[in-house]
Amino acid sequence: MAIPLQQHIMYGPVRSRRLGRSLGINVLPVGIKVCNMNCAYCQYGWTRGQRLSGARMKPWPSPAQVSAAVAARLRLAARDDESLDRLTVAGHGEPTLHPEFEEIVDRLVEVRDRLAPDLRLSVLSNSTTAAWPSVRRALGKFDERYMKLDAGDPITYAHINGLGNSIVTIVDALRDLPQVVVQAMFVSDGKGRVDNTTEGAINEWLGAIDAIQPSRVQVYTIDRPPALQDLRAVPMRRLREIAERVRVREIPADVFTSTPDARKRRASLP
Ligand code: SF4
Repeated sequence: MAIPLQQHIMYGPVRSRRLGRSLGINVLPVGIKVCNMNCAYCQYGWTRGQRLSGARMKPWPSPAQVSAAVAARLRLAARDDESLDRLTVAGHGEPTLHPEFEEIVDRLVEVRDRLAPDLRLSVLSNSTTAAWPSVRRALGKFDERYMKLDAGDPITYAHINGLGNSIVTIVDALRDLPQVVVQAMFVSDGKGRVDNTTEGAINEWLGAIDAIQPSRVQVYTIDRPPALQDLRAVPMRRLREIAERVRVREIPADVFTSTPDARKRRASLP
């Protein structure tokens, strides 16, 4: 079963394996997943008919609404002396699809600088829009960019991420961004159809990593119920092997495995 969609602009703090204690910012319309991908492992379930904005969709939060929500939450955190590591733009979908994404980022930088200058401002993106000029400018304004790339060849990419985007375009766009952290989710359905852990798939993905030269790579596996129920977490041993093949390229790589709680949750699924 997918996790519930966010009901507000602010959520968390989320205790993330990869981001520490992070306040989440959802710039997507409330109550509907909006994404231009359809990842088999998505924790929000399958993307259903709302890949991009449409007339039936609820309104996007305005830049003013987003900055007001963030400012109010940061004031609360200061009052309560809350310990936080990051402000992270993510939410239930792809945040860079917001039509005013760049203005939102400008406002977030201003609010963060004024109210919580020590907090890192981060974004999680699926990388598909990184070549769009306004998104590219906006991505450059974050302290940290966590950009998804789960495959380096079009067939594996289509099976895992559900879309036939041009890998070449994505790789070129990521290579030109400053200090990119590539996040790669490794999964297998045990039948060889949705599986980016085969030698062939790993070699293609490493070729893309060579081209991008990210500042860091994060290798991980599912920790929450995926859209495709057959998907299985990849063993720690295999994740370590993949990370080691990144490190020999002199690119730092971290491994995040499935937590015991998540394994228990999945074991109890029907
Ligand atoms: S890019 Fe993210 S939100 Fe979109 S389908 Fe994939 S995991 Fe889900």
